[in-house]
Amino acid sequence: MPNYLFKDTPAQGTVREIVPGLYWLRMPLPMALDHINLYLLEDDDGWWVVDTGIAFGATETLWDQIFANELGGKPIKAVMCTHMHPDHIGMAGWLCEKWRVPFYMTRMEYMSGLSFSRMSSKDFSWTSEQYYTRAGFSADQITSLRQRFAGFGSVVKPMPGAFRRLVDGDSLVIKGNRWRVVVGRGHSPEHACLYSDALNILISGDQVIPKITSNVSVSPAEPDANPLKEWLASHEHFLDILPGDALILPAHNAPFHGLHERLRFLIDHHEDHLLALEEACAEATPCALELLPVIFKRKLDADQVGLALGECVAHLNYLVQRGQLMRFEDEQGRYRYRSIDETLPHRLRKQSHYGIENEPIQV
Ligand SMILES: [Zn+2]
Repeated sequence: MPNYLFKDTPAQGTVREIVPGLYWLRMPLPMALDHINLYLLEDDDGWWVVDTGIAFGATETLWDQIFANELGGKPIKAVMCTHMHPDHIGMAGWLCEKWRVPFYMTRMEYMSGLSFSRMSSKDFSWTSEQYYTRAGFSADQITSLRQRFAGFGSVVKPMPGAFRRLVDGDSLVIKGNRWRVVVGRGHSPEHACLYSDALNILISGDQVIPKITSNVSVSPAEPDANPLKEWLASHEHFLDILPGDALILPAHNAPFHGLHERLRFLIDHHEDHLLALEEACAEATPCALELLPVIFKRKLDADQVGLALGECVAHLNYLVQRGQLMRFEDEQGRYRYRSIDETLPHRLRKQSHYGIENEPIQV
């Protein structure tokens, strides 16, 4: 179990000191996952902001409270986002505009954020329709998806017009501390974490979270992507390069110790899902939609189905590309899956330490 640093969380519009010069704050999110953690790093001449909150509800007012009460008279001097999801980049443009400060991000995250945040309902194209048809959705279900599709732009302020590139292995020196950029992949294309050797602290974004599991998803924009391969490889990489006793500052839940245990748990969690899907495809030839109950045991609401489907397809693409499942198209245009060796999953099936988790999905 993760070992949490605090018993409670900072009140809205206030900050909590983690170590001198490093502070934790929270912003609300309008969904089941009701918060994001942001961090402030104090430099000699101002503050670095790490992640920014969603452009919705009280976020702007809460930022103004932070500016008025928590900065000790110093300005914001830079904004950095770990990755391009709306709860992280939502207020980046507003912050950079207000303070006229530089914006730091990896190149893939900046470019992806820029294009996704400019999407509107018009961008639900025939390729999206094809993706959902192949996954097993009916024409009526696809019409309903089309009506709800809004794109990121509704909850993201216009992105900063320029960025400073973060590259894996580069460092930012903030108040004498060297923060090394450590890139992870799978949840998003080029997710930046920051690690300080001197403090033994990792600001982990959504790459490592202690309680919920990050969504690892295939989207209609790249239907044959294999993000789970990248996700699992990143976890192995983090196990290799980061110490097990580092303090982890995640974007959701709360600061904790227990990095290696958490990474191993997540690898095992996905291996369990892969085995369960392979087993289900030895007994029948289901499509992705029919396979959702295999890896998500609870009822999914309309907003969660898209994320859950993306995660299911990520596991299926991984198994297809590893040669463990074959995929074929039926007369209705749905992709169906069959185990290559129908006896294999039964032979490999193991009793996991953890079992299949039933955790909330995280954007
Ligand atoms: Zn994310």
